[in-house]
Amino acid sequence: MLSLGIESTAHTFGIGIVDDKGNVLANERYVYQPPLGYGIIPIDAANKLRENAESVLEKALDKAKIRINEIDVISFSRGPGLPPCLRVGKDFVNKILERLEKDVKIYGVNHCVAHVEIGILKTDLKDPVTLYVSGGNTQILAFVEKRYRCFGETLDIAIGNMLDSFAREANLQHPGGPKIEELAKKGSYIELPYVVKGMDFSFTGILTAAIRKLKEGIRLEDLCYSIQETCFAMLTEATERAVAHTGKEEVLLTGGVAANKRLQEMLRIMCEERGASFAVVPGEYAGDNGAMIAWLGILMSKSGYKTLKLEEIDILPKWRTEDFEVMWK
Ligand code: AMP
Ligand code: MG
Repeated sequence: MLSLGIESTAHTFGIGIVDDKGNVLANERYVYQPPLGYGIIPIDAANKLRENAESVLEKALDKAKIRINEIDVISFSRGPGLPPCLRVGKDFVNKILERLEKDVKIYGVNHCVAHVEIGILKTDLKDPVTLYVSGGNTQILAFVEKRYRCFGETLDIAIGNMLDSFAREANLQHPGGPKIEELAKKGSYIELPYVVKGMDFSFTGILTAAIRKLKEGIRLEDLCYSIQETCFAMLTEATERAVAHTGKEEVLLTGGVAANKRLQEMLRIMCEERGASFAVVPGEYAGDNGAMIAWLGILMSKSGYKTLKLEEIDILPKWRTEDFEVMWK
C-alpha cells in the first residue's frame, strides 16, 4: 500500500510518499520565505504554495519512481493551520483526484498528531511525552486514553514565532531561530520574565521585555542568550512535570525549533537525571513535511477510520490535538 501525504498548514507545501512498512520513498517540499521585515503573510504564503504545488508533486513522484496511479491513499493536513494555506492542500487533493484512474482512500490528518507519529517512526521511542515546538505551535503531548492529550501549551504565541518576532526587531532575516542560536553563543545572562502558569507557558511578555531592552541598548548577544535560557528552561520545566505526571519514560523533541542545540541539551540533562530516554526527530522530519502526513494516512487506513469524500472533510484551522481519536494504538 502506498500513501501520498500533503502538508500545507503554513509556510511549507510538502508531499511525502510512504509505504505501509514506514519506508519513506519521497519527502519533497517548497518553503515560502516572507519578505524581509515580515513574518508569514498568510495570503501570500497560500499563493506561493499553490504556485509550487505541482512541481513538488512531480519531484516526489520522480524521487519515489512511481506513477500517480500507483497511490492507494491520499491524506492532507486538515488542521490546525492558517486557513488559506489549508485550502491549498485540500484543493490540491481534488486536482490529483481528477487525474486518477482509480479510487483511493482519502483522509484529513491532524498535523500535530502527524508530528508525533513520524517521530515515533523515525526514533527508537515508543510512547513518549512529546515537546512539539515550531513556528505556529508549542505543545506538550502524550498519549493517554485513546488520544494525544495536551499537558501544557503556550497561552499566547508559539516559541518559534517568539524567536522570529524578536529577530525581526533586531533586523535579522526570517527564520530568526537559527540566528538567535548563533548569537547566543557569545552572550551572557540578563534577567527576563519567566512565565510558567501551571503546566502552560507564555512568551509575549518575554518578547516585549526583550524588545524593550534591545531599544535600551542591551547587547543583542546577551538578549539572544537570555531568551534561550529563559524560554527553554520554561519548556523543560513543564515537560519534566508532564513526564512525572504521566509516568512515561521517554521524551521526544520535534518541530522546527527542535534543531536548537541548547534546547536539546537542557532536555537531555533533564531526562538523564530522571532516567528517561530522550530523542530528537531527525531534521528532515522535525519541521513540517509531507512524509508525516502520508504516514498518518497509512496508520488511519490500517485501523478502520471511516473513509469520506473530499467534500465531507472540512479544513479545521483551530483543530485541537485531543479532539482527534487515535484508533491505531
Ligand atoms: P516549523 O514551523 O516546524 O517549520 O519550524 C520553524 C521554526 O523553527 C521557526 O520559527 C524557526 O525560527 C525555528 N527554528 C529553526 N531552527 C532553529 C534553531 N536552530 N533554533 C531555534 N529555532 C529554530
Ligand atoms: Mg508543524
